Amino acid sequence: MGKHPRIIAVHIMISKELLDILRCPLDPTRSARLDQEADGLVCQRCRLKYPIKEGLPCMLVEEAILPPGTSSLQALPCQQTSLGEGVQR
Ligand SMILES: [Zn+2]
Repeated sequence: MGKHPRIIAVHIMISKELLDILRCPLDPTRSARLDQEADGLVCQRCRLKYPIKEGLPCMLVEEAILPPGTSSLQALPCQQTSLGEGVQR
């Protein structure tokens, strides 16, 4: 023990408090929480990844990275929770 074979190239600390209040901006009900990964914050529901830039999460849908196999935001579960009110930006 004591050795860590896995090295994360960029080490970013997002506080628990911040993760607690952040929600996926795509989710109109603001209930989808985010998980921290090595290079960004990933929505627990739609798996959209918000990149971390200069230590701060970039919570813009336009900057987010689509999960593999997803071609558009419209296909994401968070987007689909909107009740036909139209897409808000
Ligand atoms: Zn989401």
